[in-house]
Amino acid sequence: MRRVTILGATGSIGQSTLDLIARAPDEFQVVALTGGRNIVQLAKDARRFGAEMAVTACADLLDELRSALAGSGIAAGAGAGALIEAAQRPADWIMSAIVGVAGLTPGLAALEQGTTLALANKESLVAAGPLLLATAARHGARILPVDSEHSAIFQALTGEDRAAVERVIITASGGAFRDRPLGDLAHVGVGEASTHPNWDMGQRITIDSASMFNKALEVIEAKEFFDLDPSQIEVLVHPQSSVHALVGFRDGGLMAHVGPPDMRHAIGYALNWPHRRDLPVARLDLAAIGRLDFTAPDPARYPALKLAWQVMEAGGHAGAIFNAAKERALDHFIAGRIGFLQMSALVARALDHGLVDAPGGEMTLETVRRCDHVTRQQLDRLIVS
Ligand code: NDP
Repeated sequence: MRRVTILGATGSIGQSTLDLIARAPDEFQVVALTGGRNIVQLAKDARRFGAEMAVTACADLLDELRSALAGSGIAAGAGAGALIEAAQRPADWIMSAIVGVAGLTPGLAALEQGTTLALANKESLVAAGPLLLATAARHGARILPVDSEHSAIFQALTGEDRAAVERVIITASGGAFRDRPLGDLAHVGVGEASTHPNWDMGQRITIDSASMFNKALEVIEAKEFFDLDPSQIEVLVHPQSSVHALVGFRDGGLMAHVGPPDMRHAIGYALNWPHRRDLPVARLDLAAIGRLDFTAPDPARYPALKLAWQVMEAGGHAGAIFNAAKERALDHFIAGRIGFLQMSALVARALDHGLVDAPGGEMTLETVRRCDHVTRQQLDRLIVS
């Protein structure tokens, strides 16, 4: 039996992970599940999977969680400390699927127990890549990619000489507004931005796909994960979302990973790694798909994308600044306070401001937190001014 914990169990990735675990009940023992506001789902899954502990990130919901778990014998916890406690419970495999930089501290706590961390929470790698990787190395922990593009790169690299990699191409669906006239983008609403053409995901990543902030995060994530130079990373718009990424080698060969747009493939790969097991995902019918299209992203439609290269060139705490500005701008868009295109404009300005005062020297959890906090305040000030 492998002992598994899921951080962010009530979300889209968390639920897909539990779906896979439910199909192999003899192989997995659930240690801890964490969630946020969705107490009903958290308690239901904690009971169903016989978890030892269930934790909500919201301290004010502890009583509600306790009542929902009454009589089950499952320990209930709430708040930041309890999230860390859940991540510290001994487990062989921990899914990091909290949304946003909120996933960083529990992710670090998980790595400190020297376990395998399946990383969906790209924001933690963008904001604090060097810290996360150094923590994993120090404690003998392993980080496996869950983002479909990074899982694709990881799979394409299996058995290859890393030194022979020339470039990596990450594909993007183009999101909800790929075919919308450019003139409409200033007025698109939250509802339409929250609908993805190919993938069924949480609201925040879906909106980030429409703006391509998600792809910008993934470019930085690829640099950190695979130790690439920024010049080695390319992005192509691929509306079919069948090819998730390609790796180009110095002999001119390209290895493409082709698969269905179902996160259970990438999650299942990380769950079963280094083995491949049956997964309940659709098998692609390439004849029915008929064609695979690739185009260069239009910088006028996706101004957020180029910021990824500015962040990578700046290095240091630039990722923490960029991620915080992006998260805050998204909060404001979802709340209806700013328009869709204002997000990238504001993040670009906050990044320029933040880089002037970015801390030099060693990255610690404290320096990342401070950058995050200051940048959020800066973005709020930019909106008011
Ligand atoms: P969801 O919004 O669906 O789920 C997020 C999870 O995090 C929920 O369990 C939520 O709890 C919990 N949560 C929210 N806020 C906090 C907080 N402040 N502290 C602790 N927990 C919190 O997100 P997704 O599943 O879509 O995405 C999760 C991560 O995976 C993100 O980093 C995303 O970028 C990445 N990812 C997602 C993909 C997808 O297909 N969805 C694909 C690739 C990467 P609750 O719902 O109970 O409030």
